[in-house]
Amino acid sequence: MASYGKLREDHLLEPATGKAFPVKKGEVYRIVTEEGGQCVDCQIYNLFDYREHMSTSIMRRQGFHLEKGDFVISASPRNRLMMQFLDKQDSNIIDVLVHRCSAAYFEAGWDMVSHTNCQDMLAEAIGEYGLTPDDTHAVLCPWTNTKFDNNGKFYLGNNRKVKKGDHLDILALMDVLVATNVCGTNDFTSLGDYWQRPMRLQIFEASAETEDLVEKVFQRYPPLKTSRTPKDFHVTRGEDADFVLKQTPGYKPQFNDYPIEITEMEIELSEEDYEQVKKQIALGIRSDDEDAVRTAVIEWYCANRRIHHPMVNYMGY
Ligand SMILES: [Zn+2]
Repeated sequence: MASYGKLREDHLLEPATGKAFPVKKGEVYRIVTEEGGQCVDCQIYNLFDYREHMSTSIMRRQGFHLEKGDFVISASPRNRLMMQFLDKQDSNIIDVLVHRCSAAYFEAGWDMVSHTNCQDMLAEAIGEYGLTPDDTHAVLCPWTNTKFDNNGKFYLGNNRKVKKGDHLDILALMDVLVATNVCGTNDFTSLGDYWQRPMRLQIFEASAETEDLVEKVFQRYPPLKTSRTPKDFHVTRGEDADFVLKQTPGYKPQFNDYPIEITEMEIELSEEDYEQVKKQIALGIRSDDEDAVRTAVIEWYCANRRIHHPMVNYMGY
């Protein structure tokens, strides 16, 4: 594995928050599981022209799940290689199929009008660089273990094989802005094991070795001559300078449902129910009494208080 440059950014990404960072060509963006498996969502833009951003639709040509060596590719008509996945553990499923959760997802599915969600967190994170909620785009989802049946219907697996300290390293092939958040559904799905946990974002400066990796990528895949940019367009809007991303000094994001409040409750169980709790812990499915009871309650709630709606219509829900 290539050695990276100096660690220049180290940010604890708390649940219910998101954060955007510029990452320069040759630098490595790392996402670390601070405690264990959690679904996270990412947005990636050209730092000097935000009209160019990644397209999971094109990236799906590499597969619904991406692997080491696969690329983050920008939407048509730009179609450029923006970043490359350098390193990850096999248990980290990088999904490019699912849609980010939003306030509307929780309302449509459970009539819940207040829940931390990816759409609002990402919008607040990119707001630091002058982008609006309408500038969000389809997400890249590391640690998102989606599965499919023979009819192409998808359902969610879990992240139980993911360990504390696992990481995903992504090499920047151009100057980009990357926004990442802890998915709002982690306490609602098997992806987060029904709890919200923090993650860590790190950026390593470019090194001779990472610069060499970038060069090798472009030797093998030179920029496409047919990649279209505004200078090729018949119709354009605004000046190029309007689309450069600049940090707003003193920006304060306004995250919904942050910080997450935890309420302790005492629950009396029947002997029969407590036997079930003990069985789950003995089998290694749940870690302790609290985890077993809380998970059972949320699983029951998700299944039995679910409203049918096309916004939330996949197997498992
Ligand atoms: Zn989400």
